Amino acid sequence: MNIGVLTETLAGERRVALVPSACLHLVNKGYAVHIQQGAGLEAGFDDTAYRDAGASVTQRSDVLGCAQVMLRVAVPSSAEIAELCAGQSLVSYIYPKRNRNVLDALAARGVTTYALDAIPRITRAQSMDVLSSQNNLAGYKAVIVGANALGRVFPLMMTAAGTVTPAKVLIYGAGVAGLQAIATAKRLGARVEVSDIRPETKEQVESLGAKFIMVDGLDRVNVQGGYVADVDTEVLARQTAAVEKSLAEADLVITTALVAGGSAPRLITAAQVDTMKRGAVIVDMATEAGGNCELSLPDTTVEHNGVTIIGCSNLASLVPTHASELYAKNITTFLAAVATVDHMSTDINDEIVSATMVTFGSEVRA
Ligand code: NAD
Repeated sequence: MNIGVLTETLAGERRVALVPSACLHLVNKGYAVHIQQGAGLEAGFDDTAYRDAGASVTQRSDVLGCAQVMLRVAVPSSAEIAELCAGQSLVSYIYPKRNRNVLDALAARGVTTYALDAIPRITRAQSMDVLSSQNNLAGYKAVIVGANALGRVFPLMMTAAGTVTPAKVLIYGAGVAGLQAIATAKRLGARVEVSDIRPETKEQVESLGAKFIMVDGLDRVNVQGGYVADVDTEVLARQTAAVEKSLAEADLVITTALVAGGSAPRLITAAQVDTMKRGAVIVDMATEAGGNCELSLPDTTVEHNGVTIIGCSNLASLVPTHASELYAKNITTFLAAVATVDHMSTDINDEIVSATMVTFGSEVRA
């Protein structure tokens, strides 16, 4: 089977779907890998490294002309979908619940699409899970971005010129990104407090040495497959009251909260931002899903009464080398489960195929 990888065209996307070591792995298995010239440059991988790994490095049109399966990172744009043709398969981030128009366009082209963000959260699929590999890096980077924007340092410093007290960091959401943000902020010496509404996160937060902000009624939160599916407004109101003091005292706030498939929960209103300290920073990681802070905008920094609000939609792309390495490993593991050297599986009795195959030729399945 011919596998194709193109240069990502979305503004700010620096990752590449396959790194040279992953190419070598696929070539050794019997696949032919075709890479657009320069596709890995932004992530730190040059064409020579791909050639050495056995890939053919060629022009975009040649890759599109011969590939049976295209591997990519960002959700394809209309122009990128128009480049594909009937019978081709696509493996990519898709976010099918938010991007019905993308599914319709892919089905209209007759492309069979596998959404990597829809991989089921089962033990067998853990090493294919792009949400985990990329959100983990994004959680780390959110702390670095926030620290860079702060006028303070994180750790306690006792110097001859005086004592500097540790920064106070408040994190909303203790999923994959939030847990890595907690660990990173702790390593830098901050005091970390955390709010989540999945009851099991309390123990995970405390095991990292952070303080969990307890709210009554968490046993009523409906969790399905590890995701928050539903939460009543009373619990959210209690959460708002419980974090009020921590929010007003925080130097850095990182928001990572998401609920299954839907818009990000609105956790910090403009009025709450007004209660924050001058010089405080909010890094909102949920802007792609609408944002956790009322004032945040995707990939934009907003100043509001002395508070800096940084909207980040693609933090993993700010660490493109490691992000691409892990993403490529996720993809090769995914292919090992759903492809042979001749073709992609379309067997919907397979749990992973069934969950990820969001278009099958001209049919939309999601
Ligand atoms: P996510 O991205 O869906 O959400 C991030 C966090 O936001 C979650 O912890 C969620 O509880 C939290 N949240 C939702 N509403 C909130 C609110 N109002 N206030 C504060 N926080 C709120 O979550 P995720 O990072 O994808 O992880 C979800 C679960 O899936 C975790 O239990 C994780 O361990 C599990 N997981 C399993 C696998 C696997 O088995 N293959 C892989 C990755 C993650």
